Amino acid sequence: MSEIKKVKKSQQWPTLMTSTSLGHIPEGAGPKKELTTVGIVGLDYCGSTLMNNILSGLPSCIGAGETHWIIDSKHNSNQRGRCTECYTQDCPVFSNKLLEELKTEQITNDGSWWENIGIASGCEIVVSADKRPRHYDRFGVPDKLLFMIKDPRAHIVSWAKRKFLQPDQNMKKYNQGADNFSLTDEQFNEAFTTWLRDTRKHISWSLNTSKELAVVSLEYFVENDEEVLKDIAKWIGIEFDDKALEYWDNDLHYIGSNHSVKRLNKDRYFFKQVKRDRRWENVLTPEQSEFITSHEKVHYQLNRLKPFILGSQVLMDFD
Ligand SMILES: [Zn+2]
Repeated sequence: MSEIKKVKKSQQWPTLMTSTSLGHIPEGAGPKKELTTVGIVGLDYCGSTLMNNILSGLPSCIGAGETHWIIDSKHNSNQRGRCTECYTQDCPVFSNKLLEELKTEQITNDGSWWENIGIASGCEIVVSADKRPRHYDRFGVPDKLLFMIKDPRAHIVSWAKRKFLQPDQNMKKYNQGADNFSLTDEQFNEAFTTWLRDTRKHISWSLNTSKELAVVSLEYFVENDEEVLKDIAKWIGIEFDDKALEYWDNDLHYIGSNHSVKRLNKDRYFFKQVKRDRRWENVLTPEQSEFITSHEKVHYQLNRLKPFILGSQVLMDFD
C-alpha cells in the first residue's frame, strides 16, 4: 500500500470489484501496488471514446473516460461528471464516495488522481480519454501515451459541423450519416487552421514528455481492429481478448462522452459497430480535399508521428 498515495488505509474500499460487476476481474481482486496509466491523446472526435471503451474490455483494464469532467462539469451543462452508463444509479466504480474524494482532494500531478480511480475499479491499468495535454499536466502525465490520429479530412469536417451547424435537424441527419452541408472557404480555412494548430500542439507536447508513445490511426484501426488491438495490448503489457471489440456488450463505467453506448439510438451512424467515418467525402469539395492532402504542413505533422506508429499500420493513405 505504500505506493498508493493520498488514500488513507481507513478510506480504502474494503471490497472492490467482484466478478459479477466487472466480468474480467477475478473475484477478490484488490488494488495492485503497480498501477499503469495509459493516456489517450488527440483532438476532439479523434475516436478516443471508442478506444477508451474497447480498452476497457481488456483484462484488468478500466477505460475511465474524460475524468476531468468530475471537477470541470460545472463549466459545461452537457456534462454531469458522473458515470455516463450508470447515469444516476450508483456506479460500482465512480461511486459518490470516489467522486467526492476526487472533488475535494487537492489536485496534484503526482498521480494520486489515477491511483484513486485504480483502487476504486480494482484494475491494474487505468486508461484515460482526457485527450488534452492540459488535463494530463493537471492530474499527472500517464505512464504511456496512446496518440490517436484521424484522417484530417474527416477531422476537419466533424469539427466544422459542430462549430457551424446548429444542433437542429441538419445535425440530426448528419449524425445518422446524411450529407447535407458544405463549407464556405472561410469556414474551411478556420477548420483547417484549427486542426493544424491543435495537432502541432498535441504532437509537440507528446514528444516532449519522457513517456512511452504509441500512435494509432483511427482509420486503420477501424478496418483492422483485431490486429491493432493485439498490438496495443502487447504494448500495454496485458493479454488480448477479442471480446473487448464488442464493447457495447461489455460492462462500461466511464466519465464524459456525449451519449451512452447502452442507450445509443439505433439510427446513429456508429450504432453497434466500428466503422470508418466517410461522411466528409460528401461535404468537402475536391479542391478542399486536395488542399488538405497535399499541404506541406499536414505532411510535416504526420511525419513527426511516424516513428511511433504501433505495429504495421499505414498512417495515412489518403485514398
Ligand atoms: Zn458506472
